[in-house]
Amino acid sequence: MNPKTFCVVSAGGKLKCDECDREFHVLSELRSHKTFRHSDVRSEACDRCHRTFKTKSLLKRHKDTYHSNERKHMCDGEYYKKRVVV
Ligand SMILES: [Zn+2]
Ligand SMILES: [Zn+2]
Repeated sequence: MNPKTFCVVSAGGKLKCDECDREFHVLSELRSHKTFRHSDVRSEACDRCHRTFKTKSLLKRHKDTYHSNERKHMCDGEYYKKRVVV
């Protein structure tokens, strides 16, 4: 389904992402979009475990899934932060 090319130039002269349907006018915009949306760069680190995520929304979903139970027993994150600090 996905072509291996970095991008394709559509008939209108726009740069189209090959991994989603977004279009860009400038190559630098497409590159930053690909870096943010489709690369393996994980810049969002969980402060409660050692896992990292590409986007804030993925990190939030991880926290909701894995740390929601912990949160119920803590009034805030300060106690936990002190335990995991290196
Ligand atoms: Zn894309
Ligand atoms: Zn975590």
